[in-house]
Amino acid sequence: MKKYIDLHIHSTNSDGSWTPSRIVERALKYELSVISITDHDTVSGIPETLEAVRGKNLDFVPGIEISTKWCHGRMHILGYFIDHNSPSLKGLSTKLGDARKERVLETCRRLAEIGKPVSPELVMKMAGDSSSPGRPHIANAMVKMGYVPTLQKAFDLYLSYGKPGYVPRWSPEPEEAIDIIHNAGGIAVIAHCSVTEGCMERIDNIIELGIDGIEAYYPAHKPHEIKKLIDIAKSHNLAITGGSDCHGMTRGEPLLGIYKVPYEVYENLVVFYENFKLKDKL
Ligand SMILES: [Zn+2]
Ligand SMILES: [Zn+2]
Repeated sequence: MKKYIDLHIHSTNSDGSWTPSRIVERALKYELSVISITDHDTVSGIPETLEAVRGKNLDFVPGIEISTKWCHGRMHILGYFIDHNSPSLKGLSTKLGDARKERVLETCRRLAEIGKPVSPELVMKMAGDSSSPGRPHIANAMVKMGYVPTLQKAFDLYLSYGKPGYVPRWSPEPEEAIDIIHNAGGIAVIAHCSVTEGCMERIDNIIELGIDGIEAYYPAHKPHEIKKLIDIAKSHNLAITGGSDCHGMTRGEPLLGIYKVPYEVYENLVVFYENFKLKDKL
């Protein structure tokens, strides 16, 4: 029987709708051989996944997908074979947490300037036990203050991109994300380049930043784009990866187990990683 893998999956630890255990169950049901959970900016799902795959006929590659600053918006960089306990990933998590709090404070300042003051304390109260206060909690506070009738109105009038209370989210530079992944012992891979604005045009520049691989197999990549990305990866001696980017039930038909990447991709990736580690020691 031909074997398949999926190296790009999101769980409830970021914006997916399935827990890591549920993802492992589904991967087993669809007879995948290898998975990687690559949550946005967090490795918090890795311990549960390691537990869920123990004793099962399923390999697991610890992963992450880091959002980085990019002139056209955001560029996503995947990290594979990372040590989720590494200080460099803990550092990222601290920085993101601080930035989230600072974003709330700045949004409150801007709302005060336009005569709709919301106290940060009220936002924190709305966030309750959540350690990541954000725009939904600010929207809740605005409803509570009587400025808007609904959460949606708060976003539409004040908090969405381009509105007076909108504050951009902090993200690391691509170089910083690559360093974080390398310091955690992993390899850094450009995610979904064909559907990231400006990525194909500037792929040589991105490769120069020290990237180790390219995600070629991806549901929204057309066959000629997959081929082109594989050719680019080969010509630069880079790793090739692929996955469904499944978010559970949040984005229509879940692709986990439906969009499948050939097992050879994993075999080649493991060889690449072994060589990568050897080079690192020299
Ligand atoms: Zn992405
Ligand atoms: Zn993703």
